[in-house]
Amino acid sequence: MFKKSSLLLLLTLGILTHLHSQEADKIWTIVIHGGAGGTPSNLTPERRGQYEKHLLEALEIGTKVLSKGGNSLDAVQKVVIYMENSPLFNAGRGAVKNIDGIHELDAAIMDGSNLKAGAVAGLRDIKNPIMAARLVMDSTAHVLLIGEGASAFAKSMGLESVDNSYFSTKQREEQLNRIKESKETPHPGGTVGCVALDIYGNLSAATSTGGMSGKKWGRVGDVPVIGAGTYANNKTAAVSGTGHGELWIRRVVAYDISALMEYRGLSLIEASNEVIFNKISPMGGSGGGIIAVDAKGNIAMVFNTSMMHRAWATSSGEIGVGILKGEESIIKKSSL
Ligand code: ASP
Repeated sequence: MFKKSSLLLLLTLGILTHLHSQEADKIWTIVIHGGAGGTPSNLTPERRGQYEKHLLEALEIGTKVLSKGGNSLDAVQKVVIYMENSPLFNAGRGAVKNIDGIHELDAAIMDGSNLKAGAVAGLRDIKNPIMAARLVMDSTAHVLLIGEGASAFAKSMGLESVDNSYFSTKQREEQLNRIKESKETPHPGGTVGCVALDIYGNLSAATSTGGMSGKKWGRVGDVPVIGAGTYANNKTAAVSGTGHGELWIRRVVAYDISALMEYRGLSLIEASNEVIFNKISPMGGSGGGIIAVDAKGNIAMVFNTSMMHRAWATSSGEIGVGILKGEESIIKKSSL
């Protein structure tokens, strides 16, 4: 199933995580996603190899931060920057186009230690939207900036700007053509996200997306809506979603998982299953999923689609990558 390079990376990651677990008893956990949805029959061995490679490279960036005692906020941001720069995912370069053929990007980041959050929506020319979201959190009195204002702010803070065509790939061009010819309906897919617990017990979440392919001009999805596609609270969990954003907004998915844990005492996995299968699934739509980690390092990767690109690593040496449903099961670290 794995290419040689993926196996090597997996091995390096394994050594890294194992060494760390011998050195300290503090735990850390990281989970990433590269979007839910897609058709399993289109997953050629070559494509699978590419996804696994990029997911594991992204994971390694976060693993390095956390295993050296770095904080979860930096880990999730660095991972998402890597994924935004990868043309494979629907975020940054590789993002989908709206119906007018323009890329409009959304991103959010949240610090579970203080409930601070930053988000941007409808960015057209900032290379790494997640960096803009972090700056909104760190350097303004606001949570969400949109469109031209968000772009002007990001540039004033020194972020790299690019022409809108920088985000384009042949694959997304063809996808938009199929939608325009009514051969395909607008659907989610390829959004990226990362959640992490660091050795200080802090939880963070970051998500970045080009949104839904063929979306209307100005459409904003769940990703930059704090509590919908992105949420983190040290008391409960860090959550990053991917899927049909309108449903995620209406169901306040990420916050609902946190609230079910906080107010109803559900475990991370119980809360995640409840929201995805009992609340989202009955609504129809294109579906999707979430990745989440709680304050004890438990992981949830729950989705109602047939695929969700995902990978994870923990300080105890567990690492993994999966794309299809059932390729790995949810891990519970009950001894922690
Ligand atoms: N949730 C994203 C949105 O609706 C799309 C996705 O996850 O692929 O904007």
